[in-house]
Amino acid sequence: MSLPPGFLDELRTRTSLSQVVGRKVLWDNRKSNQGKGDMWAPCPFHQEKSASFHVDDRKGYYYCFGCHAKGDAISFVQETENVTFIEAVEILAQEAGMPMPQRDPKAAQKADRRTQLMEACEAAQKFFVLQLQTGAGAAARAYLTKRGLSPEAVGRLGLGFAPDGWRALWEHLQAKGIPADMIFGAGLAKPSQKGGQPYDVFRNRIMFPIRDPRGRVIAFGGRAMDPADSAKYLNSPETDLFDKSRTLYNHGPAREAVGKGQPLIVAEGYMDVIALGEAGFGGAVAPLGTAVTEHQMAMLWRISDEPIIALDGDTAGLRAAYRVIDLALPLLEAGKGLRFALMPEGKDPDDLIRSDGPEGVQKVLEAALPMVKLLWQRETEGRVFDSPERKAALDKSLRETIKRIQDPSLRAHYGQEIKDLRWDLFRPAAKGRGQKFQVKPVVSAARGSLLVAEGDAALDRVREAVIVAAVVSSPGILPDVVEHLHLLACQDGNTRDVRDALLSLVDAPAGEVRDRLIEKIGPYTLETFLSARHLAVTPCVRNPGDEELARLTVADEIAKLTAQRGLIAEIEEAEADLQEEAHESLTWRLGDAARARAQAERSEREDSRDYEVGPNGANMDREEREAFDALLSQLGFGKPALPPGDR
Ligand SMILES: [Zn+2]
Repeated sequence: MSLPPGFLDELRTRTSLSQVVGRKVLWDNRKSNQGKGDMWAPCPFHQEKSASFHVDDRKGYYYCFGCHAKGDAISFVQETENVTFIEAVEILAQEAGMPMPQRDPKAAQKADRRTQLMEACEAAQKFFVLQLQTGAGAAARAYLTKRGLSPEAVGRLGLGFAPDGWRALWEHLQAKGIPADMIFGAGLAKPSQKGGQPYDVFRNRIMFPIRDPRGRVIAFGGRAMDPADSAKYLNSPETDLFDKSRTLYNHGPAREAVGKGQPLIVAEGYMDVIALGEAGFGGAVAPLGTAVTEHQMAMLWRISDEPIIALDGDTAGLRAAYRVIDLALPLLEAGKGLRFALMPEGKDPDDLIRSDGPEGVQKVLEAALPMVKLLWQRETEGRVFDSPERKAALDKSLRETIKRIQDPSLRAHYGQEIKDLRWDLFRPAAKGRGQKFQVKPVVSAARGSLLVAEGDAALDRVREAVIVAAVVSSPGILPDVVEHLHLLACQDGNTRDVRDALLSLVDAPAGEVRDRLIEKIGPYTLETFLSARHLAVTPCVRNPGDEELARLTVADEIAKLTAQRGLIAEIEEAEADLQEEAHESLTWRLGDAARARAQAERSEREDSRDYEVGPNGANMDREEREAFDALLSQLGFGKPALPPGDR
């Protein structure tokens, strides 16, 4: 329908977005500023504990910093009520007291048709519920009791019964005055192909209403009472109301439960969803007779960042999981993931609840595998990689798989994780003294280098101070070390002040340097600088004027600084390398690891020595040597893993 010009502007002006949103969220009062119309809340579109959903009431726009949902009041109503644009406008217009303009006849007809179809479904739902309470429904009631469903639960879930017979529902709906084309259109009955009377789609079945997210019945699922029935489960055909690929069983109640902190579980069928719900897992949904679709995946991620796919612990369940992976890979984006909970062999969630109770389910959910693990399992399961050709084939297939992830940073993380798993698979068996290197450090190369960088920053500052102090205590060496002084980063302010002053005194006679230094920076600064504990104990500071000692000290410290820098650069390079898709680096790593092991073994033989000469000729004490080796082992032998927070 076409709205008159200005209608939407007027509607937006009259509508308070924070009021509309406020019905669905709890404002974070500490973060919000009501006076400025600057409101914050936990996001209604994704699961979170913090408040990253922002409403700018004055501009009438919302934006979520977590899931990037954005829009205005109309889109908010569309999304949360699952209605069309025009329906959302109608809802808001009614609230704002604005009469809707005359509808164009076609759209009105279409909306009317949807309403009529829903009325047909609603009437059928009432009929099924009543039938379950009759004598004809006795066997169905007994079955539900056997499945552990109390009458209270049956009522709450709206379960019903379609009696055995060809036209029970048809005749009931006709008598209620529901037009035949609505009964057909809602998928409740079919016209006869043989010129006879129309007949009911659902006969002698336990009926499960399928609702839209607003709770309106749009379709049914039926479970056959007769074991000989060819279709144990039967769903409504696709209709104008019911698009299987865009519907999830139990969508509305699950969204609410997840909002309250329950995990979102994707089960295979409605009996699983119901059993899970009864066991206290209210956040369960199921696709309807089809594998999970792209649309459903998007719907799931709207509800939760990491839905758990619960699958039967058999080959069919695993195959279903693999299909979900293929579907999900190109859709993945940062912050969105999937986990897979595989039920114990031969069981579905319903079986598991009955045998092990809710605790059994909880355990399985907690053990749910991240998608990358299952992906790896699929690629490697039951295969032997005993030749370079086979390994290369695996690498190729893994690369192809990972390439399908669109999000570059996520793709890098997957590549990383797969590399780790590949390393686990191919690394040589542990034996002998090399074993200590087979135990991979928990810290990753990335995390390790951060720690190193942090610890080293402090160490660097000390070394820089020692160098500057050595020059202060023996100014005669100043002209010889001026280039080194220039190159010092000098992050510490005091060190920098003294160093800068020294540099300006290069031409001053050695005997005057100290006095002119005090003139420049003041006695207090120099005093503070030299009285730092690590400097007070430095031999050349304790022995001012010992130029030889000062010279050696400067050279040694400069060498150590350079070694450290080189090491950090090396780690950074390795990290960058890890981010690339190419796996050639692994080969490099193997060679590097061998060198690191040789080096470490040599250092073990040389345990008695307190100092070693580093590759650059600088003395390195044993502690440093060991730290260096540990870093090398992380580079080469270490499992290059991401910090847990990045997983
Ligand atoms: Zn969000």
